This record gives sequence, structure tokens and C-alpha cells, in this order.
Amino acid sequence: MHISVIGSGYVGTTIAACFADIGHEVTAIDIDEEIVDTLNDGRAPISEPGLEELIEANIGGRLEATTSYDAVPQSDVTFLAIGTPSNDDGSIDLTALSAAAEATGEALADKDERHLVVIKSTVTPPSITDVLGPAVRNGADGNDAVEVGMNPEFLREGSAVDDFQNPDKLVFGTNSEWATERLENVFEPLTDEDTAVVETDPQTASMIKYANNAFLASKISLVNDLGNICKEFGLDAYEVMGAIGLDDRISEQFLRSGVGWGGSCFPKDVDAIIAAAREEGYDPAVLEAAVEVNDRQPARMLELLEGHVDLEGARIAVLGLSFKPRTDDIRNSRAIPMIERLEDRGAEIVAYDPVAVEPMQERFPDVEYTESAADALEGADGSVIVTDWDEFATLDEEFNAMATPVVVDGRRIIQRREGITYEGLTW
Ligand code: NAD
Repeated sequence: MHISVIGSGYVGTTIAACFADIGHEVTAIDIDEEIVDTLNDGRAPISEPGLEELIEANIGGRLEATTSYDAVPQSDVTFLAIGTPSNDDGSIDLTALSAAAEATGEALADKDERHLVVIKSTVTPPSITDVLGPAVRNGADGNDAVEVGMNPEFLREGSAVDDFQNPDKLVFGTNSEWATERLENVFEPLTDEDTAVVETDPQTASMIKYANNAFLASKISLVNDLGNICKEFGLDAYEVMGAIGLDDRISEQFLRSGVGWGGSCFPKDVDAIIAAAREEGYDPAVLEAAVEVNDRQPARMLELLEGHVDLEGARIAVLGLSFKPRTDDIRNSRAIPMIERLEDRGAEIVAYDPVAVEPMQERFPDVEYTESAADALEGADGSVIVTDWDEFATLDEEFNAMATPVVVDGRRIIQRREGITYEGLTW
């Protein structure tokens, strides 16, 4: 099939490269010329394991990138993978996505054959009916050959390619059998007997995505809440959670307590579904508490650090800046409130991350950044571990070069050892 993918960010680039790799003809469309040039050079505009190899193998063949929407009508299906960031009140900002939806509609105004426009972006149920459907239809000047569907994306940054190639579940939200069949055809090469396919309407499909993320974020917050209680009792939360994970109803997944969730999805999506629920007059108390617990975790880490180091004028190493390992994405990374709070206390910050220094430099230009964890630790009065990059697990002698070897671990990646003052956040 010929697929057009609008938006070449984390999701758009991954799905475009993967669709091309499984045999579809793909046009990746982005308004950002730099991104388009990067793709056409055979490089990935974002850091994601395995992605560059797929782009390199397919660009100039089944994958092409452009800033023009001209390829949209020639394609069989269009996926919209545009960012949906938060407004100040937590609701989603649909400006960019609506503009892309309208431009896609315009490109399809004269098309005679049926065409499916699939929203890949995470959007609330009312925004499909009230904003995005109308934007596509207005753009297409009422052309009823154009249909809008929803196919929420569940890939995780850091393992995006693998997640997309091996989905646990696919959710097709459509208004017609024809549209469902079209999605079945698109995803057929990625579907095997282990892939659950949920076929439903677009609004339910969009709610499935929010329910999924709200559930996972709340699970982590609950685990963190319980973990904080364990710490108060002087107990190891990991021992406790290891035991409750043996209960099938709980499962062993997502029981690692720590400095909390971040990234471009959980915070934004939980805020958005809270805002959308409030708009309907409902206050989702559990989700509000999940956000509150999450917001507290960086402050708890600093309290632990302050138990050993006077932060005013102290040199503090922040290890890990991306919101999770194996990505350079710093959106809503827990490193951000950590750095802000350290700055407020008058600490001198020295930070390191294997791939996310550059984006963090733009956000905090006054922080000192180093080329290695060892350099960051050298001469530091204390350190906080914010991201569980594998390379931190092997740090050892490096702690001896600290002025005072105090380590507050937010991810349980460092082994407690002789010669350092070690504090686990919830253990
Ligand atoms: P992103 O910000 O990385 O990428 C969006 C891209 O769209 C950018 O490259 C931007 O230049 C481009 N763009 C903006 N306006 C455009 C227009 N009018 N025409 C063409 N291109 C345009 O966003 P992302 O992280 O890929 O997220 C996209 C959506 O997918 C969001 O709704 C997000 O919630 C959802 N999602 C993200 C993830 C993830 O892990 N990042 C996972 C699942 C779902």
C-alpha cells in the first residue's frame, strides 16, 4: 500500500520507517525542512535504537521524505502523527494537529476514491468529534470519500521500533467496515496469532489510549506512594513489591518505585484526561493524586540528599537527563524539576547524560555538562541518579573521586557499597 505519514517526530519517523520496511510505499511529510533533509540523508532525526538502520535501508526506495502534502492524494491511507502538547490548564493543544488535519483534507478535496485519514496522535474523544473530524472535512470541502479513523499508538521511546514491529495489541477505531479493513491491510504484516486486535469506534479507541496511560502512570504513583511509606519504615520497597507482584491480579510489571514518571506521554496524557473529565463536570480524584505523588518524588530525593549535604554552594552531580534510558527525549524528564530545585537551593550543578546533554543545554544553559559520569562525579559533594542508564550500574571507583561520596539513587541502579553514603529513594 502507499501510506503518507504526516509529522516526522518520535512516532511519525518510527512508523514511517517501519511501514516502509515491511513493504509499504511511504511518504513522510513534515513542515520542518531540517527533519526532511535528515531523513533524505538516510539519518534519524531522533535517537532511537534501530531506527537509523531502517531509514538508511529504505530511504530512496520505499521511503521518501518531503515538506509537501502533494503525495497525500496518491496514498491509500494517511496517518497524522503530530504532537499534542499541553495547554496551561493541562488540556491538549490541538493547534498543530488541527492545521495538519485541515491541510490533509485540502490535499484530498478532489480525490474520488475513498481515503482514510487516521489519527495516530493521542487525542481526547471529544476532540475527534468536535475539532479534528470537522478540520479534515472542512479542508476536504465536504468530500465524503474522505473518512477519519483513530489508531492510537502504544510504542515506548527507547524501544519504539521493536514495540511497533511487535505490538501486543492494535486498536482500530473507525466508522465503517471499509476503514477497518483498510487498517487490517496496513497492519497485516505486523499481525500474528499473538496480536490482539481491538476494533471499535474512533472515540472509544482514543479513550483506550488514555485509560492505558492513566492506568500505568497511576500504578507507578501508587507504587511510589507505598515505596515512600516503606522508606519511612526503614524497609526495602523492592522486596515488598517483589512479593505483591506474585499476585496475578497485580502482575510484576511496573512495580519499580523511584523518582517518578516523565516523558512526552504520561504527564501530558494524564493531565489531558483530567482536564477533559473536568470539562464534563467530573473530578477524577485518583488521577489527581497520581500527579501529586509524582510531583513530590524529586523533592523527596533532595530531602534525602540534604540529610547528608548542605546544598548551598555544594557541587552536585546529576546523572541522567533523559526521561528514561535509551532516548534523548527530555520532555517532562524528572531531571528538570531536580535541576530547578537544586538551582533554587544554590547548588552548583554538574550534569551528564550519554545522549541528552544537547537538549538539556538549551533548557539550562548555565549548568555545567560533562562528557562522562566520571567527570561529573569528580570533586562533587553529592550526586543524584535520575535516569537508569545501564552504564551507571558499573560506576564504582568513580565515586571515590567525589569530594564527599554521597549518592541518592532515584532508580535503584547503583549497588550499595562500602565507602559511599548511599540512599535509595524508597529502599
Ligand atoms: P513530535 O513533537 O516528536 O513530532 C511531531 C512532528 O510533527 C514534528 O516533527 C513537527 O515538525 C511536525 N509537524 C507539526 N506540524 C506539522 C504540520 N502541519 N505538517 C507536518 N508536520 C508537522 O511528537 P511525537 O512524540 O511523535 O508525538 C506525536 C503524537 O503521538 C502525540 O499526540 C503523542 O502524544 C503521541 N504518542 C507519542 C508517543 C511517544 O513515545 N513519543 C507514543 C505514543 C503516542
